[in-house]
Amino acid sequence: MKASALFLIVPVIGILALSQAPRSSTEEPDEKKEVVAQTTKTSPNDSGTNGKIMKTDAEWKKILTPEQYRVARKKGTERAFTGEYWNSKEKGVYQCVCCGNDLFSADTKFDSGTGWPSFWSPLSSNNIKTEEDRSFFSVRTEVLCEKCGAHLGHVFDDGPKPTGLRYCINSVSLKFKKQEAKE
Ligand code: FE
Repeated sequence: MKASALFLIVPVIGILALSQAPRSSTEEPDEKKEVVAQTTKTSPNDSGTNGKIMKTDAEWKKILTPEQYRVARKKGTERAFTGEYWNSKEKGVYQCVCCGNDLFSADTKFDSGTGWPSFWSPLSSNNIKTEEDRSFFSVRTEVLCEKCGAHLGHVFDDGPKPTGLRYCINSVSLKFKKQEAKE
């Protein structure tokens, strides 16, 4: 009887010991989870006050064409000389195709010979942002829409005067707003 009682008691103690261990070790992560939950809870309010546009991939897919989504949301590149604006010389403003943010003026557009719309300056440095891009075995500077994070293209330092910069931008990330004729 004693031996069989031990067989019963030992597993019970083992189970108790196991059930204790995870409980004490999960106390800290539980606290962290709470902090993360609070941060997530406040972020939508933040995005409203700082003017940033946040959408899920599914939401972007609903409002963009597959090519716009591939380039602007997934950092793709349109084929050179195939875009709508690479050879355009009309007066106006190029906006973000995703959020309508004013990005480039036609006044700073120049013929770079690359087959992509090229500008020597953004309309305002506040409307774009840049990030280091280490893809394709090179270091380039990616240009993004400050408001919605859309991938626009890259900026290089071989542009014309007065800035010496060349903003090489995908047509498909842009939406052209023609300047109204002055009366
Ligand atoms: Fe945008």
